Amino acid sequence: MNTFSDFIRNASVEEKTEVYTKVMEAASKKQNEMVRLTNTQESSTKYGPCECCGKNVSEVWVKTGPKPYFNHEGKKIMESVGSTFGHRECLEAV
Ligand SMILES: [Zn+2]
Repeated sequence: MNTFSDFIRNASVEEKTEVYTKVMEAASKKQNEMVRLTNTQESSTKYGPCECCGKNVSEVWVKTGPKPYFNHEGKKIMESVGSTFGHRECLEAV
């Protein structure tokens, strides 16, 4: 019986690349479907400035979904799921 791991063991580099590309595409599509944008109907007075541009926001939106995390040098260290607060336009652009 051929299993997926048998296939991977015998697959060429090209075949493996093709499979992993499909897996990554499916995973990122799934992550995008998880994105939720919600209007908090509150301003920066309550939630602080936009996390994307640092400016004050009159109507703060919160985006829940994949969120990049950066170290102190500004280098992306990981991506997890989290909430980002800010302008709707900024959150949609991320
Ligand atoms: Zn902004």
